Amino acid sequence: MHEYSIARSLVEVVCEEARRAGAVRVNYVEARVGVMTMVDAWLLQEAWVIACEGTTCEGSALVVEKCPVWMTCRGCGHRESEDVWPGHCPVCGGADGRVSGGDELDLTRMDVDINGGSATDDLLSVAAATRT
Ligand SMILES: [Zn+2]
Repeated sequence: MHEYSIARSLVEVVCEEARRAGAVRVNYVEARVGVMTMVDAWLLQEAWVIACEGTTCEGSALVVEKCPVWMTCRGCGHRESEDVWPGHCPVCGGADGRVSGGDELDLTRMDVDINGGSATDDLLSVAAATRT
């Protein structure tokens, strides 16, 4: 199960970050998932719950932000989500578009409790570590 191995990698990273921050509990974690990764957000959240069992992350929620594929016009630089790109640039009519994005698999934010207090940490991209 693709999502399960991803969830496990993400949990490992979050636990490591939580340990470094001295966190006693992880409340929620935010992740960006590109549409091209073929990761099902719902399955990933299910897998997250299982992967969290017995770790500092247990009971935490995974918030998934879906990232579209972007088309950028080579003529004028206009950027549009691929699913609404009409085949040519809606601004200048140019047919030459560059495809980017959609392959994100990043942890972006985690909210943890530190000895009664609370902290929100911005996480660096862990795409390389979690792309399998
Ligand atoms: Zn254009």
